[in-house]
Amino acid sequence: MQLKVWGARGSVPAPGPEMNRYGGNTSCVEATLSDGSALILDAGTGIRGLGVALAARNPRIHILLTHLHLDHIQGLMFFPPCFRSESEITIWGPTSPEASLEERVARYISAPLSPVEVRELPCEVSFVDAPPSEWEIGPAKIRAESVTHRGPTLGYRITDGGTALAYIPDHEPGLGAPLDSLESDWISGYDLAKDADLLIHDCQYTDLEHHAHVGWGHSRVTDTLTFARRTDARRLLMFHHDPLHPDDFLDSFYATARERWEELGGEAGAIEMAAEGHSLEVTPAAEKVAAG
Ligand SMILES: [Zn+2]
Ligand SMILES: [Zn+2]
Repeated sequence: MQLKVWGARGSVPAPGPEMNRYGGNTSCVEATLSDGSALILDAGTGIRGLGVALAARNPRIHILLTHLHLDHIQGLMFFPPCFRSESEITIWGPTSPEASLEERVARYISAPLSPVEVRELPCEVSFVDAPPSEWEIGPAKIRAESVTHRGPTLGYRITDGGTALAYIPDHEPGLGAPLDSLESDWISGYDLAKDADLLIHDCQYTDLEHHAHVGWGHSRVTDTLTFARRTDARRLLMFHHDPLHPDDFLDSFYATARERWEELGGEAGAIEMAAEGHSLEVTPAAEKVAAG
């Protein structure tokens, strides 16, 4: 599975020269599946650039939304395929007893926040609640589960052939829970990330910063690392960077995280920092390849 990061920032876009290397656009990751089709994870402002790049490709598009915080949907209104009549876009997201997925997204894509309404979009767009059991999109099997954040929020596990990707960008699994000693069944998102070939996970705060943000729905770095080690994820991609963290800060944050990752038994080189524009190849574990 081939991945490209189009936006790695959390909470709010953070443009500026001091943000150039890791990028200022909010959450959006493109996964290219084994049949060449693209699956889009979240629609933060990063999806605008992805939409421009998708111009000549298949008009059939699937977008998996983890939740409807603005940093995960803001780019939808600036996603060029939405304005092409040949596009067929399916948007998957969390269910809510309060209103349908379309009604909730339409609170953003409607006046006075938007010049267009969802019904005025020239594309064919459908909104689907992520089902509680596994479903298929092209060659991929998709599983969604609720995870600890603010409001209805999903994490995803995407399996294509022998490769498993876990995407949990907004997550506070350590909220009120000692992650290092908690039984696996009680860890939020555990099944999604278990033995994943790549885990893309929230790493918004340093441990010190987290003291002032307990319950805000994001991880301190200790919990990001512990969660990845507890779930035996093979590789970790630290994601959803705080808008107050410029490039130099993220460099030293990453260096500290690498050391602690290895102290916790993580493999050197199996921890990476998400940066806008970067591509990664996710491959299955060697033993899984050997087993066919
Ligand atoms: Zn977010
Ligand atoms: Zn959020």
